[in-house]
Amino acid sequence: MRAFEAVQYYFDEAAELLELPPQMREMLLMANREVSVQVTIERDNGELASFVGYRVQHNNSRGPMKGGLRFHHEVNLDEVRSLASLMTWKTAVVDLPYGGAKGGIGVNPRELSMREKEHLTRAFVDKIQDIVGPDCDIPAPDMGTDYQVMSWFRNQWEKYHGFNPAVITGKPVEEYGAKGREEATGRGVGILTMKLIGRLGRKAEKSRVAIQGFGNVGSHAAKYLHDAQFPIIAISDISGTYYSSEGLNIPDILRYTLEHPNGLLEGYSHCDHLPGSALLELEDADILIPAALGGVVTAENVDKIHAPIIIEGANGPIYPLADKQMHDRGVTIMPDILANAGGVTVSYFEWVQNRQHYRWPLDRVRRELELTLVNAFEKVWEISQQHDVSLRTAAFMIAIQRVQRATELAGGRS
Ligand code: NAD
Repeated sequence: MRAFEAVQYYFDEAAELLELPPQMREMLLMANREVSVQVTIERDNGELASFVGYRVQHNNSRGPMKGGLRFHHEVNLDEVRSLASLMTWKTAVVDLPYGGAKGGIGVNPRELSMREKEHLTRAFVDKIQDIVGPDCDIPAPDMGTDYQVMSWFRNQWEKYHGFNPAVITGKPVEEYGAKGREEATGRGVGILTMKLIGRLGRKAEKSRVAIQGFGNVGSHAAKYLHDAQFPIIAISDISGTYYSSEGLNIPDILRYTLEHPNGLLEGYSHCDHLPGSALLELEDADILIPAALGGVVTAENVDKIHAPIIIEGANGPIYPLADKQMHDRGVTIMPDILANAGGVTVSYFEWVQNRQHYRWPLDRVRRELELTLVNAFEKVWEISQQHDVSLRTAAFMIAIQRVQRATELAGGRS
């Protein structure tokens, strides 16, 4: 299954329940604009190298479009299209005044020097600078990009348009970035996990957690949940799974990753080391948090997934057939468009601060993040109970209704 088909499947399920007219469905599914550009740089050895860059602007009915910029060798138009559409539903479900977009370049950033990465970023901005901006489309970091890439992006864009740091979010804190942006997605995953287990009548100390991926999202989620007394029994990254039935020492592991190359867990020895695939299949995990890649739970491996609760830290980690099968056997799944919305929420706070030329302290960012996510969770929970549907279908129903309403108010008829 292709990534866009998966989003379309979830959209259709909710649209059916909402009895959304066919013309409106078509309008809301199709992207406003899809751009592919050639990005050419001179490598350090003097040779030229060309890459394909994408920006898909899905929908702007509720405000300027918002979405990350990914540098990854598997980036392709289908994936970017699906992620742009997810951003529209994500910003709508947490009720941010934004639409959805996504971009990326098909490149392995690990194979680029810093100089090459900078030139690639600037060459990409040269190609798309006229279609992004603080009032139309605001990029942010995603897989393979970070605050440094955001800084280059802003600097290059400002050469054309003048000072305006609100053109991009995820900037360095000392250069118009927001305090708390880096931790925001993982922290949001933690906040929402707490809310969900409360609703399900579980206690933190008795809910054993396994987290796939120990990058930005996975490590901050682990920290938050460890501080909240959850036993984290397993974490994984590209070097394998690290397991302890007693619960891992997360502060010690965080220290270890800071001191080792590329933040990898490789070589950490104060626990059992299992193959990477073991994490998803653990029989003693109560909460599974996929926080690495898309498409990791499919019809092929769904029978081996035992956790009764799944929180989607990553975008699109579960494909529809697996999702349906797990829903039928009573697994509670917190969908990506809600679970990992903490990042875009604090990106929104950053954009607001830039536009006000004002800075919020960290405790205000954290307080408002929690308020935004908890409000969204309560609404999603209420609709899922009212209509007896999964949290995913409820989240899509809320998001679609909000985008439909904005489209109609602006004069679009179905
Ligand atoms: P990251 O690059 O910081 O971390 C990814 C982690 O996954 C790394 O630890 C890597 O080693 C691990 N990984 C890669 N392949 C793996 C595999 N096969 N098995 C186990 N681990 C593997 O990325 P991130 O920013 O943490 O993003 C993770 C996911 O969350 C992505 O799907 C991203 O789109 C989504 N997301 C991120 C944010 C954000 O603010 N960073 C916001 C919303 C959604």
